[in-house]
Amino acid sequence: MITRREFYINGGWTQPATPRDCAVIDPSTEESCAVISLGSQADTDAAVAAAKAAFPLWAATPHAERRAAVVRILEQYNARVQDLAEAISMEMGAPIDMALTSQAPCLPWHLNNFLTAFDAMEWVRPLGPHAPNDRITLEPIGVVGLITPWNWPMNQIALKVIPAILAGCTCVLKPSEESPLNAMIFAEFCHDAGLPPGVFNLVNGDGPGVGAQLSLHPDVEMISFTGSTRAGKAISAAAAQTLKRVTLELGGKGANLIFADADDKAVERGVRHLMNNSGQSCNAPSRMLVERPAYERAVRVAAEVASSIKVASAHDHGKHIGPVVNKRQWDQIQGYIQKGIDEGARLIAGGLGLPDGFNRGFYVRPTVFADVTPGMTIEREEIFGPVLSIIPFDTEAEAVRIANDSPFGLANYVQSQDGPRRNRLARALRSGMVEMNGNSRGAGAPFGGVKASGRAREGGMFGIEEFLESKAISGWDSGADIAAE
Ligand code: NAD
Repeated sequence: MITRREFYINGGWTQPATPRDCAVIDPSTEESCAVISLGSQADTDAAVAAAKAAFPLWAATPHAERRAAVVRILEQYNARVQDLAEAISMEMGAPIDMALTSQAPCLPWHLNNFLTAFDAMEWVRPLGPHAPNDRITLEPIGVVGLITPWNWPMNQIALKVIPAILAGCTCVLKPSEESPLNAMIFAEFCHDAGLPPGVFNLVNGDGPGVGAQLSLHPDVEMISFTGSTRAGKAISAAAAQTLKRVTLELGGKGANLIFADADDKAVERGVRHLMNNSGQSCNAPSRMLVERPAYERAVRVAAEVASSIKVASAHDHGKHIGPVVNKRQWDQIQGYIQKGIDEGARLIAGGLGLPDGFNRGFYVRPTVFADVTPGMTIEREEIFGPVLSIIPFDTEAEAVRIANDSPFGLANYVQSQDGPRRNRLARALRSGMVEMNGNSRGAGAPFGGVKASGRAREGGMFGIEEFLESKAISGWDSGADIAAE
């Protein structure tokens, strides 16, 4: 059993002001695998004070030094990737091979993309030839609170901490209380990379505690949040008291439009994409819209593929899906499956209860519903589990209408061999991202959504800019610039 009650504040591990134990549950076994402490106001205040004290010096630190510090974090990752993957796998249930090849490597992927973007940033730029003595400078916003979820834990930590410190901000990270261990290993990376005290701080805690304290804190200039739409609203309301900047990455209900001319693998690809990470991805293509002539084949293929997906412990090697994160999530998913049945959708794979051979662990049967109609609960609400809804459509216009008639707007998908149609749809779909024919987004593309999916843009240049403010300066001495060169 791992015991890690301390928080990382001002360059060292410190005991909580008032210990409040919280068990970390291994979803593969339902057993407690670690104990942490949840922070209190005094811990939050200490972390924010450390970040505030460190800010002036860090903001003034030359770009090359900030860059070098981030490169040293990467070196720590390279030395300890196995530890990171094991922690992720144990605490949130990603199968160990997947944790090692997909979850943990989110850190180097984003980090390298941020470095590329950082190198191309223009920190001081002219406004234009009409105003030769004007400059626009980019300045770090200040102390930032970073609140992250459990589903792709290192992905979200990398998408927030790395751009914040590259931008010159200092930060307090509050990782999900469901997945605190990988975040504490990341804090060790920051420490061993020699980040100056106070630049990066970590306080474990829950939403109503440390999460709300950061959102309300007068010395925190910005909250960057990833998680549920519910919490995003609570944070926005709390942050309004101090007029903080708030960036939100929230839920999704991605539509995957499959036309009759799509490639042969489109249906299988869509099912596997949704089932990956046991359906716990905000950008999952959870609504499969299929053009009528291709519909019956799609239903047959989806049922076959879902039924062939193996469910097993996160500790087992191999290609399978693991459990979902906790009992609350498991119960919620079962509730949605029951709703799908009650509202008349056709269950063609999976269903209620544990998969065969399990009597414990938060495992869900890979489930597919066909004949789902717009407006059904499973069509509208984010399930966040391995449950796919298949919906037929007759015309392109109808497909767009169904896809866009959602409170969410994170990622949508199009499968068609017709190029002009793809381009038309890419523009018509109301979402922050559109992925077509299985092409994933390139390095540095912004991740984010519209509507109830939140409006943050994370990754690459866009992700660094979220932590910066532009300053308009007139009366700049251009001669001094030339003299300094
Ligand atoms: P959650 O919103 O309950 O928790 C996320 C984080 O917010 C945790 O650290 C939690 O402690 C904190 N939190 C909860 N309530 C809070 C409050 N009132 N004030 C401040 N902090 C609070 O969500 P979850 O169960 O951890 O994650 C699942 C949800 O996150 C899903 O809806 C999913 O779609 C969404 N998500 C979105 C993205 C994205 O990039 N758009 C990525 C991952 C997850």
